[in-house]
Amino acid sequence: MLADIEAMRRQALQELTAAADSLELENIRLKYLGRKGELTRILRGMGSLPPEERPRIGQAANRAREEIEAALEAARQRLREREKEERLQKEKIDVTLPGRRRLRGHLHPLNQVLKEIKTIFLGMGFAVAEGPEVETDYYNFEALNLPKEHPARDMQDSFYITEDILLRTHTSPVQIRVMQAMLPRLPIKIIAPGKVYRRDDDATHSPMFHQVEGLLVDRRVTFGDLKGTLMAFARQMFGPECRVRFRPSYFPFTEPSAEVDISCVMCGGSGCRVCSYTGWLEILGSGMVHPKVLAMAGYDPEKVSGFAFGMGVERVAMLKYGIDDLRLFFENDLRFLKQF
Ligand SMILES: [Zn+2]
Repeated sequence: MLADIEAMRRQALQELTAAADSLELENIRLKYLGRKGELTRILRGMGSLPPEERPRIGQAANRAREEIEAALEAARQRLREREKEERLQKEKIDVTLPGRRRLRGHLHPLNQVLKEIKTIFLGMGFAVAEGPEVETDYYNFEALNLPKEHPARDMQDSFYITEDILLRTHTSPVQIRVMQAMLPRLPIKIIAPGKVYRRDDDATHSPMFHQVEGLLVDRRVTFGDLKGTLMAFARQMFGPECRVRFRPSYFPFTEPSAEVDISCVMCGGSGCRVCSYTGWLEILGSGMVHPKVLAMAGYDPEKVSGFAFGMGVERVAMLKYGIDDLRLFFENDLRFLKQF
């Protein structure tokens, strides 16, 4: 019996010295000290011994247990040290390695231009207003003096959701919404940027594009205010050399109405392919808010007046950067987008 204990003790210590990880240690502990382990087995066998021999064997078994437990603890300590050492080795940092460059994105060119447009108008005291992209026929057409059957509706072939609800074809409905919300306060001085939708798709038209609407309503607003505002905008956007020209035009919601051209950004006005040798580029539509539109929004056209304008953000970006195909903005080709 003593020999059994001694053999077990020696075997256990040997295995503990060789153990390579904590899982192995745990297995050894169970094998010798566990409830179904070697030591338990030996102690159980003590029942068959003569009583006078039991204390001696018991003492030897206890000593062996203590020794194994101590060796187990030492082995744990040893493994912990080693694991720490290995971790330190692994985590060693080579401070001489060159850094990893982070890829930084940037705003889409349309958002850059939009931001620039906003900054210019905010600088002139305009606030930014927004409206829904899914709009009612009333706000998109009716309240802008475009009753049903009005021929100008054909110019804005729309995506209808129901007979009365459509994707807005321009940002102009925001004019009406803002005027109604502000009534009767003055002045109203806003720009309304946003997405608009039309059933067009070619090199210069996209079914979804962006507009910025402008609206100023107050007492004694004149066409001169409109002209000065747009000239200041054009010079900040396209450079101090930029000249502006107003051409009489027609929009149902303004009267009088004007198309606004800027001197060609490519040739400076001497004539080139981009401007079709006219020296001018069309940039936006504008005019004095139609008295009927003011009245429909609840303002008295005898007492207040206003101007409005609307420009395509894609159009401004194309002119500013000399881009000839609008579809490039939406194809997400990084070779194109990285140039801005
Ligand atoms: Zn030109």
